[in-house]
Amino acid sequence: MAIKLFKKAALKKWVDSLIAGGRVFGVQAKGERFAFGPLEKAADLRLDYDVTILPPKKYLQPQTEDLVKFSKGGGYESVIDSEPFVLLGVHPYDMAAINQMDAIFLKDGEVDTHYKARREAATIVACDVESPSENVFAGCMGTAVVDKGYDVLVTAVDGGYVVETASPRGEKLLAAAGEVPDASKKDMKKRKAVQEKNRKRLRKHELKGEPLGLPCLLGKSENHPVWEEKARLCYSCGSCNLVCPTCYCFDVQDDTDWTLESGRRYRVWDACLLADFAAVAGGHNFRKERAARFRHRYYRKGKYIPEKIGEIACVGCGRCITACTAKIANPVEVYNRLTEGC
Ligand code: SF4
Ligand code: SF4
Repeated sequence: MAIKLFKKAALKKWVDSLIAGGRVFGVQAKGERFAFGPLEKAADLRLDYDVTILPPKKYLQPQTEDLVKFSKGGGYESVIDSEPFVLLGVHPYDMAAINQMDAIFLKDGEVDTHYKARREAATIVACDVESPSENVFAGCMGTAVVDKGYDVLVTAVDGGYVVETASPRGEKLLAAAGEVPDASKKDMKKRKAVQEKNRKRLRKHELKGEPLGLPCLLGKSENHPVWEEKARLCYSCGSCNLVCPTCYCFDVQDDTDWTLESGRRYRVWDACLLADFAAVAGGHNFRKERAARFRHRYYRKGKYIPEKIGEIACVGCGRCITACTAKIANPVEVYNRLTEGC
């Protein structure tokens, strides 16, 4: 695979050529914050962003996604979006979250066909973090740097950008850049230094103990007072779920045309902190109490998903900490509290 050194102007030219060739989504400024969106020109791309409001998972599992169209007399057909696109500027912790989504949605025998189609249509350009966000703790979760899942990795170094391809699809993408010099040993050392630095500085909150110790800790914390204490302040707004790159729960609904001639089945993001998330037919709600819903979120991230895929389902992006109006959604604060016992 190729490793090149792009000067700023060459990178801009490359990105413009990608935009001319098809659908490109990249990180852009949105007021004082940042968001992934359709990219119209390279000048709008901000690889120096801190964190995006929503994670890039929205291109693999959109907020609302049609699954099936149906009509009277016409039967039904699946709606599959497989139009190729390029995702530009995915931070390592978000890439780690996509790798987790892959493990869940592409598991042998349990493949989600809609997710698979979008994932196969995506070419992902990851980028190492230049500006850490105020609440990131990826360094504690082992996700400050990532080594798989992407097609191309871009790292800003003194003097340009080290750009490495990691798949044939990435090679093809890089071919659009034309003649670019190879990165030197010195450039590679600079990249290593950036990644080492990120492992240390993406720690705005410090987790006590190893992340993989969480399932065991949670196994004996079901009745810890922290669940009631924090949940007392919770608005059940679900924001902590909606901004999370590893939350993938959805609800399936049908929408019928007013003539009753046709309709669609679609899925929308759901959130386990919402009051009716675990409500079922007959009026029963499995997690009626706020504390039960609050606790469930931490168990899902720290115990249930790790038991399925062997990784903690929190990549330390810090988005939930920023999004929570009540200031109670910090996973590090909650998990550290559990280590203190009752
Ligand atoms: S739980 Fe919070 S910090 Fe962890 S991945 Fe989700 S949003 Fe990011
Ligand atoms: S964002 Fe905060 S207030 Fe809203 S549901 Fe999550 S923990 Fe509760």
